[in-house]
Amino acid sequence: MCRHAAWLGPPRPLSSLIGDPEHGLLHQAYAPRLQRYGTVNADGFGMGWYADGRAEPVRYRRSVPIWADANLPGLAEVARSGCLLAAVRSATVGMPIEESATAPFTDGRWLLSHNGRVERDALLSLPAGPGPAPGSPCDSAWLAAAVFARLRAGTPVAEAVARVVTETARADPEARLNLLVCGGSEIVATAWGDTLFSHIHEGVLLASEPLDGRPGWRAVDDRTLVVASPDGVSVTRI
Ligand code: GLN
Repeated sequence: MCRHAAWLGPPRPLSSLIGDPEHGLLHQAYAPRLQRYGTVNADGFGMGWYADGRAEPVRYRRSVPIWADANLPGLAEVARSGCLLAAVRSATVGMPIEESATAPFTDGRWLLSHNGRVERDALLSLPAGPGPAPGSPCDSAWLAAAVFARLRAGTPVAEAVARVVTETARADPEARLNLLVCGGSEIVATAWGDTLFSHIHEGVLLASEPLDGRPGWRAVDDRTLVVASPDGVSVTRI
């Protein structure tokens, strides 16, 4: 995924990440302002949210450009939650363009998006866990499976994400590993090789690049882990 965004706070519609803000993901799909790798994000899109009475998130993903889905605006307007994730994709060369390669990847209550690229061989060197097999040959799906395996083994989410990123980077020093993981009441994100911004107002917004021109957007330092929960936001070096 080349641009992703998430919200934690009072319930909002998914359109607050996509079509409502001036530079939301709909705009970032064809005119990203800070993208370093790739020019447009037209290889699919996805979103996930949490609905009352359902333990697992609802996921919607397509392999068409986000602007080509005429059903999306209405759906994004009514899909409301206190924890949201959305992403638009620019496929890495060699990766399939299909729904199963598109974020968010999901397992149980988790939603995961990856902005970057990694040699899949680097992921083979990570200790295997009890997780689901990757649902696609896409590098991001493999990365998601590595995180999910640790989560299923009981590793706390911040530690699971930090470990997968640092261990993968050791095996592939060129890897770009911006991850965004939502669990319904928390978001864990990494800045590792690409841009990430935060905006704290009534809740927490994390996005590859600012969604609008409001003051308060702050660039997150590279090689850091951001943890957002109802207790607050922490940023630590990894
Ligand atoms: N490597 C991932 C893919 O192919 C993510 C791509 C990206 O961040 N541009 O989907």
